[in-house]
Amino acid sequence: MTTITRFAPSPTGNLHVGNIRTALHNWMLARKAGGRFVLRIDDTDAARSREEYVEAIREDLSWLGLEADGEERQSDRLALYQSAFDALAAAGRIYPAYETAQELELKRKIQLGRGLPPIYDRGALRLSDAERAAKEAEGIAPHWRFKLDHEEPITWDDGVRGTQKFDPAQLSDPVIRRADGSWLYMLPSAVDDLDMGVTQVLRGEDHVSNTAVQIQMFTALIAAQFPAAKMPAFAHEALLVGKEGKLSKRLGSLGCDSFRERDIEPEAIIALLARLGTSQPVEPIADRALLVETFDLSTFGRAPAKFDDTELDRLNAAIVHQMDYDAVSHRLPEGMDEAGWHAVRPNLVHVSEAANWWKLVTGPIEQPKFSEEDRTFLGKASEMLDWGDDPWRSLTTALKDATGRKGKPLFLPLRQALTGMDHGPDMGELLPLIGEEEARARLCRAAG
Ligand code: GLU
Repeated sequence: MTTITRFAPSPTGNLHVGNIRTALHNWMLARKAGGRFVLRIDDTDAARSREEYVEAIREDLSWLGLEADGEERQSDRLALYQSAFDALAAAGRIYPAYETAQELELKRKIQLGRGLPPIYDRGALRLSDAERAAKEAEGIAPHWRFKLDHEEPITWDDGVRGTQKFDPAQLSDPVIRRADGSWLYMLPSAVDDLDMGVTQVLRGEDHVSNTAVQIQMFTALIAAQFPAAKMPAFAHEALLVGKEGKLSKRLGSLGCDSFRERDIEPEAIIALLARLGTSQPVEPIADRALLVETFDLSTFGRAPAKFDDTELDRLNAAIVHQMDYDAVSHRLPEGMDEAGWHAVRPNLVHVSEAANWWKLVTGPIEQPKFSEEDRTFLGKASEMLDWGDDPWRSLTTALKDATGRKGKPLFLPLRQALTGMDHGPDMGELLPLIGEEEARARLCRAAG
């Protein structure tokens, strides 16, 4: 059986780091099994769904390199939901309910006040035909609930959480359709998972109780409409929290736009999110095939995964240090060649910083004030500059012999005179890039 996973965002906003993680894990599950990864746009909420978000979702996934093997849209599939609804209604699993939002709220308050769980009391099921007709005559359109079967406990073997067990009597019959005919998420999602042959549903643990309810929907749908389909396997990963350990607002809005603005590499995000919250070490692995190969749901922990920006920067730096010139050349300042990239690369956290370091080569640079003694030293340096294969090495060796200086007093004034900075890329690589004439000019200027 081919593994089929799906990522099912609602296009009511941009993807945030939590969604990205779910998308990535579903993509990895499919890739590892040689299966299919489907992007399903859950856009049944017409009032809140927007086309610009659909486009942003596609763009973000493509920027992250999480290409889908197919895309589906729930708004194109409404006829299928209608027929599933009819089939479930015919099987006695759907019933109309007429309570207003205020009535339901009041019921909940009363239950909570009595110390009872706020479970829907199935008042609508007790209406007589005449009472229902009276509601309709009053012009009250019903919303629709799925009738849970209270007989058997609901259980499943969760890919992350192990055996899960729910008493259906402790759950409310979920509303699946609004009075205006629009769909809530539960039923269309179950219909699609069956119709698309989804084999694994991997999502956040905020969906655990939805899964309990949906398992009954899957069973009812298989019996009523999809006899050849199989119930998918389920796995719920622990949520992502800020490094302070809380579900933070910031994380909820942190997405690819902000990563791009900060010049974070997609590979750094992928390397972090692939392993965060698992027992495998988070490492700057730029080789996606390796991440896919080592991806394993059984290594996922139950504790919330902590997302830390400093860790992302650390990974980004390490990923940048591995990047080849060809992969970044279009993002580098004009004139910066492969040798330039190799010279500055170890000093970067983000590729965009290459431009600052490159200015040391192209100039103009601003030199500090040097002491009398250093000026003499730098004057000597300008005379001894000898442009061979390794000008930095020959210069520092000659100066060391001539002046007896070594260590910092030898290297620092030279670096400052040649770059205007007291730290930076390896001088052995920078000096040839600065060039003989310019290097001599800088040394002479520093010598005064
Ligand atoms: N559209 C749902 C959401 O964004 C999908 C959840 C699921 O993966 O089933 O929460």
